[in-house]
Amino acid sequence: MSSPEFFHHGDLVAVMSTQPLGRALDYKAPEGGCRMGAFVEVPLGPRKVLGVVWGPGKGDYDLAKIRHVIRVLDAAPMRDEMRSFLERAAAYTLTPMPAMLRLATRAPGLGDPPSMRKVYRRGTAEPNKMTDARRRVLETLDEYGDLSFTLKELADMAGVTASVVKGLVTQDAVREEESPRDVPFLQMDPERPSKALTEDQAAAAAVMDEGVRSGKYGTTLLRGVTGSGKTEVYLEAVAAALRAGRQALVLLPEIALTEQFLERVQERFGAKPAEWHSGATMTERRRIWRMVGQGQCQVVIGARSALFLPYQNLGLIVVDEEHDSSYKQEEGVLYNARDMAVLRAAICGAQVVLASATPSLESWANVEAGKYRRLDLTSRFGPAVMPEMGAIDMRAEGLKSDRWVSPTLQAEVNKRLERGEQAMLFINRRGYAPITLCRACGHQIGCDDCDARMVEHRFLKRLVCHQCGESKPMPEACPNCEAVGKLAPVGPGVERLGEEAAAIWPEARIATLSSDMYGSARALKAEIAGIAEGAADIVIGTQLVAKGHNFPNLTLVGVIDADLGLQGSDLRAAERTFQLMRQVAGRAGRAEAPGAALLQTYQPEHPVIRAILAGDEEGFWAAEAAERKQAGVPPYGRMAGIILSGPDVAAVFDAGNLLARQDGALRRIGAQVFGPAPAPIARVRGRHRVRLLVKAEKSAPLQEALAQWVAQLRLKGDLRLAVDIDPQSF
Ligand code: ADP
Ligand code: ZN
Repeated sequence: MSSPEFFHHGDLVAVMSTQPLGRALDYKAPEGGCRMGAFVEVPLGPRKVLGVVWGPGKGDYDLAKIRHVIRVLDAAPMRDEMRSFLERAAAYTLTPMPAMLRLATRAPGLGDPPSMRKVYRRGTAEPNKMTDARRRVLETLDEYGDLSFTLKELADMAGVTASVVKGLVTQDAVREEESPRDVPFLQMDPERPSKALTEDQAAAAAVMDEGVRSGKYGTTLLRGVTGSGKTEVYLEAVAAALRAGRQALVLLPEIALTEQFLERVQERFGAKPAEWHSGATMTERRRIWRMVGQGQCQVVIGARSALFLPYQNLGLIVVDEEHDSSYKQEEGVLYNARDMAVLRAAICGAQVVLASATPSLESWANVEAGKYRRLDLTSRFGPAVMPEMGAIDMRAEGLKSDRWVSPTLQAEVNKRLERGEQAMLFINRRGYAPITLCRACGHQIGCDDCDARMVEHRFLKRLVCHQCGESKPMPEACPNCEAVGKLAPVGPGVERLGEEAAAIWPEARIATLSSDMYGSARALKAEIAGIAEGAADIVIGTQLVAKGHNFPNLTLVGVIDADLGLQGSDLRAAERTFQLMRQVAGRAGRAEAPGAALLQTYQPEHPVIRAILAGDEEGFWAAEAAERKQAGVPPYGRMAGIILSGPDVAAVFDAGNLLARQDGALRRIGAQVFGPAPAPIARVRGRHRVRLLVKAEKSAPLQEALAQWVAQLRLKGDLRLAVDIDPQSF
């Protein structure tokens, strides 16, 4: 099936808009016509909305009533490849097309008038008709010599309307140019000298090189402990893509933390790659968006949304730390960037590299099923060895209340300090204390809008809800019994641990790293770079520090509460704890100095803790896989969550129960429905949430059945429904 590439004035075109309509609507092509995939502005009721020309119009609507496309926006049309990616991603995640389309259009400010992105300077010709207004424009430009201005600046300075300037452009008296902010990216050079790879690194790099050169789709799981050289190897895959004239995308879970990484890329290729993340300025994002589309930006390092950039010729996608749960977007469109990367690559014939020290069970299963290739890097680079792992049995430590660093751990930290090495204390909890309790009435301060406790952040002098972000000043009196001075922190957060450490080691330089303690990503990056260079003796941190930083002088990691992730009934809890603990442990002892990791635990005999201590990865995964197979859950079965939410809890449950009873479409494919039950987060921003879980065989056509099933429910009032394919917790 081939669609025309161009539509002439008056031809019917189907335009997909970013407004929640669900399907493309017919319009008439504007004067001058429009291309397939063009970004356009169309009328919708009284409004003008952004859309994309999605194909020929259906013509199933009264022709006289069909309106014209208002204008074609000044942006390269969306490629066929991108349209099919969005369509397939929408079908997979059961997301309405407009919401999916928004992911591909929201960042670049496409709706902006083109004048925002153009600059104007003196042209070569004189206008054939001179007016006062025109003369003022030209005089203004002459006055400033070679400087250029935006349309608004120039019009304002000359005291004319924008159309006067535009008129001069048509006569070449004023030159219109792309904004100079679109400075080109420096050329990256794959032939610069790379590090001499070890034997197994070289072997892995060769396989990837061949994959990239094949120009075909393929996925490789690149597995190796932290420090084994995974980055070194996938940079060679990036080099292969560059040589083949194709673009490369490297996805990282915590984009804020990439300064070291960017420098590495620069060192390898002689130029900085584009950096795409939520902290980037709009101008920078537009620049990347356009340059990527023109193929002039060769390498993008980005957060998950970088998957939706309009690559001209994408040949490689690297998903670093592929197991990381931050790849799963949990608001708006619920998608997992790892899976979407594979889909995107399959559509455009690119290679995918999934890199991890602790791959997800999903990826293991795909290797097992023959869908992914597996490459192992078996040793750490150089003489460094895996850290020695040990447990500290907290039952025997006799800690005083409100103390979290055991005597054993203190003694170990002391040894490192004496040797001039760094130690890290890890706790996966932001803020000062997870609970604020009234010692008079027993009340725990909770969020007004969520089913969550407020967490004290002493650094910010506020109580913060980690669910919805709501915060309020720390009250003097208990909001329940009004007793004054009775509110007390309970339990440790990273800030409180920092306080304890400062009391234990008054002489040591202590750095506490938590994302909320730094005003900007830049400040955080600077802090991390400083630590790597030795600006701290003791690093205290949350999950943030577990990811991919090199602290070469760090030789000890103490995990304050290794049991934390094991609580709760989530089937993925074991996997997550195992991955996080191994990752944190991997921070210790990179280069010459061997490292140690000590886990403080109250249950040293727990199978997950034992597997972590034994470093028995294959054994752990085999046991985990057997359990999941037995239960028929991902990756050996399929699951979906349906989240219903609304302000009235009874109405939400009624809708859930109604849906649960009408499960014919699901039963036909042998799927089961569980619930409704309160969702893992039962109330967010004042909305009550219930969840139905659907479980099906791996081969069942789950999406179609789900779509039929949820379509039966008429959403009344303020009720909302979201489908979560492959939920993170089950
Ligand atoms: P991973 O990504 O698996 O954690 P890296 O690629 O970051 O591992 O390698 C860890 C450290 O070892 C880095 O500083 C890297 O530059 C260095 N390294 C890895 N392989 C080599 C090599 N073949 N030659 C020199 N240095 C290497
Ligand atoms: Zn809240």
